[in-house]
Amino acid sequence: MSNALKEKILVVEDDRGIGKFLCTNLSANGYDVVVSETGKVALELISSHCPDCILLDLGLPDMDGDQIIQQVRSWTRTPIIVISARTLETDKANALDLGADDYLTKPFSTVELLARIRAALRHTRTSSENGEIAMQGTFHVGELCVDYRKHRVFRSGQDMNLTPNEFRIVALLGMHAGQVLTYKHILRELWGPSASSDNKILRVHMANIRRKIEPNPDEPIYIFTEVGVGYRMAQPDEMGQQN
Ligand code: CA
Repeated sequence: MSNALKEKILVVEDDRGIGKFLCTNLSANGYDVVVSETGKVALELISSHCPDCILLDLGLPDMDGDQIIQQVRSWTRTPIIVISARTLETDKANALDLGADDYLTKPFSTVELLARIRAALRHTRTSSENGEIAMQGTFHVGELCVDYRKHRVFRSGQDMNLTPNEFRIVALLGMHAGQVLTYKHILRELWGPSASSDNKILRVHMANIRRKIEPNPDEPIYIFTEVGVGYRMAQPDEMGQQN
């Protein structure tokens, strides 16, 4: 594939070992990779180079990754996947709420990273809405089908009888399959800006949803919990790997 057709990934990482590792792996997987070790150079590259996806370390020598997310989001929707050693749930939720698309905690596997990149790129191509949903009004993952026209969720063709609120939660996650949506984001999307920030109601809904849609609610395969951060719907190619 010629360079012009390759998708461009900007890696913002001051640890040279990790930067090199990412560069080698992503190049081997067909991406055109540029690495920046500082926030300043990263911001310049984002405007001059127009990457298709940004992998961002939060702890940079000249600025905090959060500042970069805020600045980038003031003018572009380019997907940002945060890669950080920070494991605090509040850090993750904060980065996602500032506009990052996804969050990976070091160490992570290349397989996982590639899956997250594919999900992020797919979302830009379909302008943050799943292409299948736009075309057919449905989202399929494994045996699950979210029908946006009928407002129903089916598994193996059987209606899972979700309540309207349960459907709205599944519908929202399905529209952003592969991406972690924070509790705050989900609450705001479903119940407006004045929604309570109490996650308890969401947890109750999710327990009911899982009882209905998951073959084994204790080991979900469709909707995953990012503890203390939010929920993520599996994407179809992820199910393929499991089967
Ligand atoms: Ca760092």
